[in-house]
Amino acid sequence: MSKIRVRAHAKINLYLDVVGKRDDGYHNLATVFHSIGLHDDVIIRRRAEKGITVHCEHPGVPCDSRNIAYRAAQCISAAVGGIGGLAIDIHKRIPVAAGLAGGSANAAAVLHGINKLWALGFTQDALMRLGAQLGADVPFCLHGGAALGQGIGDRLTSLPALPEVPLLLLNPGIDISTAAVFKNLNFRLTTEKKEGIIIKTHVEKRDIVGIGKNLYNLLEVPVFSKHPEVAALKTQLTTQAGCYGALMSGSGATVFALMQDTAAAQRSESHFKNRVGFCTTTVTYPVGVSIDN
Ligand code: ATP
Repeated sequence: MSKIRVRAHAKINLYLDVVGKRDDGYHNLATVFHSIGLHDDVIIRRRAEKGITVHCEHPGVPCDSRNIAYRAAQCISAAVGGIGGLAIDIHKRIPVAAGLAGGSANAAAVLHGINKLWALGFTQDALMRLGAQLGADVPFCLHGGAALGQGIGDRLTSLPALPEVPLLLLNPGIDISTAAVFKNLNFRLTTEKKEGIIIKTHVEKRDIVGIGKNLYNLLEVPVFSKHPEVAALKTQLTTQAGCYGALMSGSGATVFALMQDTAAAQRSESHFKNRVGFCTTTVTYPVGVSIDN
């Protein structure tokens, strides 16, 4: 086999609280992640020539060593003392800098794909440890499905993945830097809110109405105050027929709604289609990366 095609799934956060600030400047989180059907395609090929190349048409994605997929290839190659030349092609569907962990998903796909293509034999846990060196969301993207994330989001406890819940995703087309959002967070040390535990219980019970009522993201505070249009989109989503609840994902600016059924999601999609930068329907998904043959 000389090439492998991997689906790199985006994630949403059903809950995100900041529970502490660390000496290294990072924040400790309590978050509930879920993978979603929306994915990029990542194709990895062996090359006779040495070195790593990255190709991606998206204007917001660098194709050199700044690309997290490039760094993932470097990282796993270094861990085994070198694997020779390879080329990475990324077909982007996940909006960039949108709170959906598009870059982290690409890095996870590269680690997973190289491990398979070169038959390196890393276990899932070992790949997740490599992933943690690249970014806080990479371990979850490898884990996939649903999980509670603690620490900087990299300490994961598995939760049962939800069945396919229809989702509507909207992004007003503003790129948001995660680092800037955390910098603008007027941080007060909060104790972990009990809603975090409640939403975990609703996920375990697969109670979509309960999840919809308990969606929470502390990062909405700094993002909504700087970008009121994101808050307005969330309000509009909440008032759609068949919406169980809406929330901003991660550090934004994507907002998502849990919808009662596919028909309701599609009706809302046609309402928003020509009014926002990005609008799509998708579903909650059981895996983060998968080989696409
Ligand atoms: P998170 O939810 O993990 O904070 P995000 O979805 O907000 O991530 P990304 O889409 O991962 O953000 O992109 C963040 C930045 O990373 C962008 O500025 C982008 O240029 C850069 N980047 C590097 N590699 C990639 C990649 N493979 N895909 C997308 N962005 C990348």
